[in-house]
Amino acid sequence: MDIGFIGLGNMGAPMAANLARAGHNVTGFDVSSVAVEGVIAADSASAAAEDRDVVITMLPDGKILKSVAAEVLPAMKPGACLIDCSTVDVASAREVAADATARGLLAIDAPVSGGIGGATAGTLTFMAGGSAEAFAIAEPLFQIMGQKAVHCGEAGAGQAAKICNNMILGISMLGVCEAFALAEKLDLDWQKMFDVVSTSSGACWSVNTYCPAPGVGPQSPADNDYKPGFAAELMLKDLRLSQEAAAAAGARTDMGALATDLYEAFVESGGRGQDFSAVLPALRK
Ligand code: NAD
Repeated sequence: MDIGFIGLGNMGAPMAANLARAGHNVTGFDVSSVAVEGVIAADSASAAAEDRDVVITMLPDGKILKSVAAEVLPAMKPGACLIDCSTVDVASAREVAADATARGLLAIDAPVSGGIGGATAGTLTFMAGGSAEAFAIAEPLFQIMGQKAVHCGEAGAGQAAKICNNMILGISMLGVCEAFALAEKLDLDWQKMFDVVSTSSGACWSVNTYCPAPGVGPQSPADNDYKPGFAAELMLKDLRLSQEAAAAAGARTDMGALATDLYEAFVESGGRGQDFSAVLPALRK
């Protein structure tokens, strides 16, 4: 396929490189000019999008996505498909999809889980929102860049799945950090705590796979001085998106709101640039 790839940052660059390595013809654009192996550099977003079968975006937020879409959609050929893999608010995702559809294009929102490691290894999970026709075009590309793709529903459903998942993750990580900090104060050894909880009803991804306590469980950022991983400010971004969506939909998310406040305080008091599991050492202080 002829693919345009816009946004070659930490995530986009390895994703574009994996598509090129799989034999696709990839043309890329980023405002800060970056060279990506196997990817032809274009000098504008519209040049990267012109005449491509598919245009993929991997951008910081909804505002930037909307401004890039305004430039790119008019340049795309009829019937081509826009795949937005950024994590953005549900409203922006739906707006961009509606604009694309009105222009006779296909569109799908497909945010990812798996981080920079997953993007490099090609093991991301994609959660997609859009028509069955758009998903059918995008799915073979998801299989190259990732290992799993779930078609969650119509436009915006991918973003909805992503922010609901990450709201659970933010809440569960805070709970796990509080429990490990409490265990220590109760003179309970962290390894014993892990052995019990990881096989009991407190088991969850934040304990079993990504334990915030160093030296316990599988390797995690806690074993690497809390270098991200998944940075605390990215968790805060996703929690804020969940609260925007909850307010717009009239959903009650008290735990999500508290998790947002706690991550905001953590990021502002030295947590920026650290992994989101570094709440544990902050609580110990
Ligand atoms: P990043 O900041 O490294 O990359 C974004 C890129 O977009 C940058 O290279 C930037 O120069 C480029 N850009 C900004 N404005 C542009 C424009 N107008 N035109 C073209 N390029 C432009 O961020 P990232 O870590 O690659 O994340 C990208 C998206 O993926 C975000 O929405 C993020 O929330 C999401 N995400 C990130 C992770 C992660 O672990 N990093 C995990 C899952 C999802």
